[in-house]
Amino acid sequence: MADREPDLVISGGGVVGLALAAALDGRGLRIAVIEAREPPPWDPARTDLRVSSITAASRRMLAALGVWESVAARRVSPFEAIHAWDAGGGAVHFHAADVGEAWLGHIVENDLLQRMLYEHVTGGCNDVRLLCPAGIRSLDAGPDQVRVRLDDGRRLRSRLLVAADGARSVVREQVGIPVRRRDYGQQGLVATVRTRVHHGRVARQRFLPGGPVALLPLADGACSIVWSLPTEDARRLLAAADGGFMAALSEATQEVLGPVVETGPRRAFPLQALHAERYIDERVALVGDAAHVIHPLAGQGVNLGLLDAAALAEVVQAAVARGRDPGGRLVLRRYERWRRGDNLSMQVAMDGFHWLFSNRDPVRHGVRNLGFELTDRLPLLKRRFTEYAMGYRGDLPALARK
Ligand SMILES: Cc1cc2nc3c(=O)[nH]c(=O)nc-3n(C[C@H](O)[C@H](O)[C@H](O)COP(=O)(O)OP(=O)(O)OC[C@H]3O[C@@H](n4cnc5c(N)ncnc54)[C@H](O)[C@@H]3O)c2cc1C
Repeated sequence: MADREPDLVISGGGVVGLALAAALDGRGLRIAVIEAREPPPWDPARTDLRVSSITAASRRMLAALGVWESVAARRVSPFEAIHAWDAGGGAVHFHAADVGEAWLGHIVENDLLQRMLYEHVTGGCNDVRLLCPAGIRSLDAGPDQVRVRLDDGRRLRSRLLVAADGARSVVREQVGIPVRRRDYGQQGLVATVRTRVHHGRVARQRFLPGGPVALLPLADGACSIVWSLPTEDARRLLAAADGGFMAALSEATQEVLGPVVETGPRRAFPLQALHAERYIDERVALVGDAAHVIHPLAGQGVNLGLLDAAALAEVVQAAVARGRDPGGRLVLRRYERWRRGDNLSMQVAMDGFHWLFSNRDPVRHGVRNLGFELTDRLPLLKRRFTEYAMGYRGDLPALARK
């Protein structure tokens, strides 16, 4: 892209911001992406501690953008089933075959996905200019344009500014969009571990009173764990010696894959729920974690963000095709109406799961067991949950549709 003023500025070149830029490339818009840090080149010898479970709908979108092939050629781990069970006894199994598909989803390392999108955008998207490292110092949104000043003094003017700068979005804060925030009092402890028994391409999750622990299958037979724990327990396990940590994890997973025999380094992330009260402001739209952060227990955060990006790209593209202003209020309203309700219902569902599972209350225990049993026995209900887990729900943007 020539060094002219962009039509659209995206603050944040994480997975969601870069996917949005890729989706809008070639549609007659000049796009600038402002990113604080270049994602490191992919190193096959290193497995990123942060992985995401990518739904079938997200995979379709990434394939349509021309990025999935390069991700899959490096390292992804498909899984064909999900096995979830409760510390109190109930269990449910979901299989891709039940809905006529080969895989329910894919486990992908976050660094790899971001790097492949970054290379795609810098190497193959002529309409996109990436400013990196860079960040927004101040902004001024008016009826006709939004003006942005960067940390290094550069200035940009555009018709739309998109905040894809994550949970602590500077754009959201500067515009003054309020958020509802809830601290779960938990941390998500992540690590790569090896178990005595191979995972068999099944994603597993056990619900414990302190929070769920997930064993996500990796390509080399190892598992990536996401263990939601009360903050104090997470700190204790972070500080524990490897042997103590592996013993605690073996117990927490009931040795479903035999004992844990090897562990890599551990990290923990505070878990919170956050939802912006509005997704739009004058010439500003929020996408991804800048708009909503949900509990990782269903592995949906980045998937919802990708759907935001696809929906916003679709409404902006439709406006441009009709000669309309891509940052106009009606266009942004359409995006907000499309995505906010869907994201909010997912967040309410996650909060409901959290409320139902993270406790020792005998009544809730009974409800959980009944829920597991009914879901496992009623094929229609099970099919609905399976499709939900694959991202085939609600009004999907064209890029993610079957
Ligand atoms: C423990 C854990 C497990 C998870 N597991 C899953 C899972 O299995 N599946 C799933 O779908 N989701 C999962 N998530 C959620 C998922 O990681 C997030 O939803 C996703 O990373 C959000 O992507 P994003 O691009 O919106 O934001 P981010 O990934 O936060 O990216 C924001 C980008 O903006 C840049 N940036 C920030 N501020 C500025 C600034 N001021 N100027 C310029 N650039 C800036 C950052 O450098 C970054 O590149 C998990 C989360 C946690 C904590």
